[in-house]
Amino acid sequence: MKIRKGDTVRVMKGKNRGKQGKVLHTYPKVGKVLVEGINEKIRHTRPRRQGQKGQRVTVYHPVPVANVMVICSSCGKGTRVGFERRDDKKIRVCKKCKKSFS
Ligand SMILES: [Zn+2]
Repeated sequence: MKIRKGDTVRVMKGKNRGKQGKVLHTYPKVGKVLVEGINEKIRHTRPRRQGQKGQRVTVYHPVPVANVMVICSSCGKGTRVGFERRDDKKIRVCKKCKKSFS
């Protein structure tokens, strides 16, 4: 997975196309990411007990990694992520400006 928690991504496909948000969680096994403010759905809960009210809760659903693009913090563009070896460490770099991601 090239996307990490805390990255800012833009959705390129689907009904949320063009939207941007912060990655809250990654699911490498299924190749999905949870992005703040994207793919929100309202879950209606029924009252379970007497005196309790039904509620509408906003929940976010993960979107496939293939549908999102990382926004580079240095150049501000939507980019792909590359890997480079520096000081024996594998770091993530922006394919466009070659700067490393924090
Ligand atoms: Zn960049």
